[in-house]
Amino acid sequence: MQYDVLIIGAGSAGLSAALTLGRCLRRVLVADGGLPRNEASPAVHGFFTRDGIAPAELLRLGHEQLRPYDSVEVQALEIDRIAQEGRSFRATGVNTVTDAPITIAARRVLLATGVADILPPLPGFRELWGRGVLHCPYCHGWEVRQQPLAVYGRGRTVTGLALLVSRWSADVVVLTDGPGYLTPNARRRLRRHKISIREERIARLVGTPDNELQCVEFIDGSQLPRTALFLHASQHQRSTLAVQLGARHTSKGAVRVDSAMQTTIPGLYAAGDTTPGTQQALLAAAAGSKAAIVINESLTREECPR
Ligand SMILES: Cc1cc2nc3c(=O)[nH]c(=O)nc-3n(C[C@H](O)[C@H](O)[C@H](O)COP(=O)(O)OP(=O)(O)OC[C@H]3O[C@@H](n4cnc5c(N)ncnc54)[C@H](O)[C@@H]3O)c2cc1C
Repeated sequence: MQYDVLIIGAGSAGLSAALTLGRCLRRVLVADGGLPRNEASPAVHGFFTRDGIAPAELLRLGHEQLRPYDSVEVQALEIDRIAQEGRSFRATGVNTVTDAPITIAARRVLLATGVADILPPLPGFRELWGRGVLHCPYCHGWEVRQQPLAVYGRGRTVTGLALLVSRWSADVVVLTDGPGYLTPNARRRLRRHKISIREERIARLVGTPDNELQCVEFIDGSQLPRTALFLHASQHQRSTLAVQLGARHTSKGAVRVDSAMQTTIPGLYAAGDTTPGTQQALLAAAAGSKAAIVINESLTREECPR
């Protein structure tokens, strides 16, 4: 059986694309490979009409609202290989419930596979991720407003993030965990906003039983009480499928797309965190919807030649 569209990934981008394509009566298979990027977080903030919803509940609603659309199938599938076959694609993977292998043919593919965050290898970062350790003040700044905050990192990245976070709290400390590589100008800008800098090595983050941050402990044993720590974590793509097809990536590792959400491989589209730009659940959902529209229009052009 050939699908019109194979959507790989069932996060905000993938489910939103499936909804729009279902409403176009397109035969769609959504490969749901499992947990979304924000699974460690208690809530999705800033999502219009759903502010504060649990990540799993947001996606449950997304699945529920696909049910009326008979042409959309969702399966628990991890896609591991993909290749072009003429003007179509052939993907293979496994059913993550039954372990059964599967092969899928599709006229178009939408990659909505997201990214994974790489955290510093220090005790506490992984454990407190999503609660005491936060990646984005737009997502979680309001919840920790006017509290003692830390911003972790070095160089220009930490300077920009600390200045941004100072919008939410007047008590912000930069933690560089060793030499901070901060220019005199960066130090001046931080000082001007009353942001102090600690360049001592960090031993660990100490959390509460609920994985909120209690304090940062340095290697000399001293502790700095903080209620949250922000950082710009490095990321990698959750899947290598775009690489397998030879799609171009940006210098930061995002899958390059044009204004019609198409990658450099004709027929292969991408949406959500996989692509360059601001990463938010609502923006991923919007990008998924936009990709679905351009995919439907490209299929329509193919079906209705001049
Ligand atoms: C801790 C944390 C908290 C956050 N809080 C917020 C917030 O409050 N508000 C907000 O707007 N944003 C928040 N974000 C950002 C938000 O999570 C992302 O922007 C959003 O999840 C992106 O959606 P997506 O569909 O692109 O990717 P994802 O939601 O990550 O979904 C990608 C899906 O693809 C699947 N997948 C990957 N590879 C394969 C494969 N080979 N085969 C099949 N499936 C595959 C994955 O299992 C996953 O289900 C947060 C992020 C983090 C890390």
